[in-house]
Amino acid sequence: VAKCHRMDPGKVIATFKRSSLVGSMPMATQRIPDELFRNEKLIKELEEIAKDSALLHGVLMRTKESPNSSEVVSYAPFTLFPSPVPTVLFNQALEVATHFNRLIDRVSQSPHFLEEALASTIKVDRFTAKLFNIYRQVQQEPQDMAIVLGLNRSDYMIDHANGKEALKQIELNTIAASFGGLSSQTPAVHRHILKVAGLLKESKLILDNNPAAGLAKGLAMAWELYGSERAVVMFLVEDVQRNIYDHRFVENELWARNIRVIRRQFEDVSRRGFLDQDKRLFVDGQEIAVVYFRNGYMPQNYKSEQSWEARLMMERSCAVKCPDISTHLAGTKKVQQELARPGVLETFFPDEPETVARIRATFAGLYSLDMGEDGDKNMAMALAKPDQYVLKPQREGGGNNIYGDEICSVLESLKNSTERTAYILMDKIQPQPMYNYLCREGEPLKLKRCLSELGVFGAYVRRGTEVLMNECVGHLLRTKGAEHADGGVAAGVALLDNPLLI
Ligand code: ADP
Ligand code: MG
Ligand code: MG
Repeated sequence: VAKCHRMDPGKVIATFKRSSLVGSMPMATQRIPDELFRNEKLIKELEEIAKDSALLHGVLMRTKESPNSSEVVSYAPFTLFPSPVPTVLFNQALEVATHFNRLIDRVSQSPHFLEEALASTIKVDRFTAKLFNIYRQVQQEPQDMAIVLGLNRSDYMIDHANGKEALKQIELNTIAASFGGLSSQTPAVHRHILKVAGLLKESKLILDNNPAAGLAKGLAMAWELYGSERAVVMFLVEDVQRNIYDHRFVENELWARNIRVIRRQFEDVSRRGFLDQDKRLFVDGQEIAVVYFRNGYMPQNYKSEQSWEARLMMERSCAVKCPDISTHLAGTKKVQQELARPGVLETFFPDEPETVARIRATFAGLYSLDMGEDGDKNMAMALAKPDQYVLKPQREGGGNNIYGDEICSVLESLKNSTERTAYILMDKIQPQPMYNYLCREGEPLKLKRCLSELGVFGAYVRRGTEVLMNECVGHLLRTKGAEHADGGVAAGVALLDNPLLI
């Protein structure tokens, strides 16, 4: 059953005139009057109230100084005001979510495609190669009626390059997609701020959002299908746990359903985990029904060879893995680029031209740097106009991409080397900058030109060939200072935000 919460554009009343970008940068975000934005006394008051509201609603993060302690905590970074998002594009992002769920699920079941798509990458990228190696090993031991749980987040920016707004996908995260918990809490904060600011009508336009419940629904269904009352859900977590409250919102939804949750690290699994003769996974004596990876997406997460062995053991087990190794690989940037090749989506949806069109409409230009004529042509294109592209390695977590002049130096150095196939090239999306105030723990409130990125959470469950759940379960708006080319909330660049539909 595909489901989406649609916002009716008819409900949205234009209150404030939209300022145009070129020539006169809008001082305020749409719908927030300029006078209010410039009223220093009011902003100061709102700042104080906003921080308290964030704390009261659990929009929390541990501090940099004590990332593993809940003794002293603070609010997670957030924008003082919500940011404008066009209703039509917002709805488009929600509506395509269930199609992306199906696409990723199909890609994960296509060994041929994954093998071909990643062939050049795994020759030069050690991390992807290690993941692929695990994939190959588990391919040797197919499981009948395996339960598959996908919890992903497809991220978009609104391209404004040709004066026309279009929703363009930045990437799709299939592992450890975060902020579903905290983004379930931020609507209440922005509603409150707008009310205090005297913008009651606007406060009512802040959408309800509850990815925590939707992600937990998927986890709970997977747990139930696994079929053992005693078994637990294991969150596989990092050793530095600043963002623990984001996890807790999802975790607590499971406890509310009387599903037990434990948090463990690779090291715990490696030291005290084993598979029994039926490949059931046990850690600290507890049977694991579902492994929910909130770690394991970057090389540094694997501190030793034992971490890799633990990943392999979990993948081989009959516990539900979220994601399993094939779904993890389906979320790589190289796969994203291969899916954008002409004709490829059609192979996954042979009888659904409509689905193909909807997915493809969100694709930005993506280019392979594989050895050969096409790759050479794409290299030359990037070297000629580096400001129009982003160069991406197969990494997650923000801060890994290459922009501008650095694209030239990196590409020049890799020109005739197969090393270049570790990267993909992508059109740089040009969103319209907007002003907002940024609230970040320990820093004075800052008024900045900002860019926003919309994430949409997808959840699906499959057993064998039967899809039992396929839903869009919420959204996340992140906003960053326009001077930052890269980086998310956890990377210390972006802040939590909410869309204010226009
Ligand atoms: P990661 O997996 O590390 O989050 P992303 O592809 O999401 O990698 O890139 C990180 C950030 O870089 C994004 O959040 C966005 O701010 C910026 N970015 C990535 N791709 C583009 C693009 N094509 N155009 C503009 N900005 C981009
Ligand atoms: Mg990512
Ligand atoms: Mg990203």
